[in-house]
Amino acid sequence: GEGKAATLVKADNVRDLFDSVDLFLFDCDGVIWKGDKLIDRVTETLHLLRSKGKKLVFVTNNSRKSRRQYAAKFQSLGLSVNEDEIFSSSFAAAMFLKVNDFPPHKKVYVIGEEGILDEMQLAGFTALGGPEDGKKHVELKSNNLFEHDKSVGAVVVGLDQYINYYKLQYGTLCIRENPGCLFIATNRDAVGHMTDLQEWPGFCSFLFSSDNFQCFLNYIRLNYSPFVQLRNKLGTWVAGAGCMVAAICGSTQKEPIVVGKPSTFMMDFLLQKYNISTSKICMVGDRLDTDILFGQNAGCKTLLVLSGVTTLSALQDPANDIQPDYFTDKVSDLLELLGP
Ligand code: PLP
Ligand code: CA
Repeated sequence: GEGKAATLVKADNVRDLFDSVDLFLFDCDGVIWKGDKLIDRVTETLHLLRSKGKKLVFVTNNSRKSRRQYAAKFQSLGLSVNEDEIFSSSFAAAMFLKVNDFPPHKKVYVIGEEGILDEMQLAGFTALGGPEDGKKHVELKSNNLFEHDKSVGAVVVGLDQYINYYKLQYGTLCIRENPGCLFIATNRDAVGHMTDLQEWPGFCSFLFSSDNFQCFLNYIRLNYSPFVQLRNKLGTWVAGAGCMVAAICGSTQKEPIVVGKPSTFMMDFLLQKYNISTSKICMVGDRLDTDILFGQNAGCKTLLVLSGVTTLSALQDPANDIQPDYFTDKVSDLLELLGP
């Protein structure tokens, strides 16, 4: 728990962890995959856990996909994971509105991407904004600067690579002009990995289709260019959803309701769904300030893996006050330690 230094998972303590846990909550990026690449022997590890009767749930703060889009990603990586085992911050935003009886006649303004729009639609809400509004512009002296749909009752903010002044003005108007308007953040991650950039759907089958030749060139450019060599040298992070959220905090002088990790919203939702005691849950993640805190806030066991953003020296830095119960290099260490 907090305070006590994290214990390295070893052959003589792995059973204490394993036997006391019925449900493993897995963070995705940095634990299951890095971008479009599975982390070493994840498939076998998840298979072992399932074969021992453990429940598995996947929790990601990345709002760019909906849970059904994540299910497709899991499948494309050869992992059999059901949609209802996936909790993305995009889904959490829609569930937040549902459990708080957001009226269906009200609309949701989205500063974010496809994942949030998809979840809003699946939950039966009308969403405006999203990537579409990335093409719109306002000028400081124009009329449309002050136009907004008065029936917007919630602004949902997540990572948005198409963010622009139009969207910031629109979201700000909705919140400032309507005191009842909710301000919801999917997550506040400071940085994310450069993941989706590397995604390439069915490399070989597309290769010979001329329609996709441009795509192929893009793939080469993104993966083999001097830009990538520079990226690999300098680091792999990009500005996260935290900066989009902070922009709206700045203009509205309001704090958002956060539904992603480390907020307790998804955990409360999960606990209700699985009807399980938190002492039987282990949260496995690569970040201290989102994943490990998320687990600790709820009283779950926590396991930090060093296959993502947190280094051993960051974990052991005296300035770090978030200590997981356990740590190890990567999830497949469980496979090695528990045997076949
Ligand atoms: N948000 C964005 C935009 C990301 O790209 C990432 C990781 O790549 C995350 C959040 C963190 O995702 P996770 O919670 O799966 O580690
Ligand atoms: Ca992660």
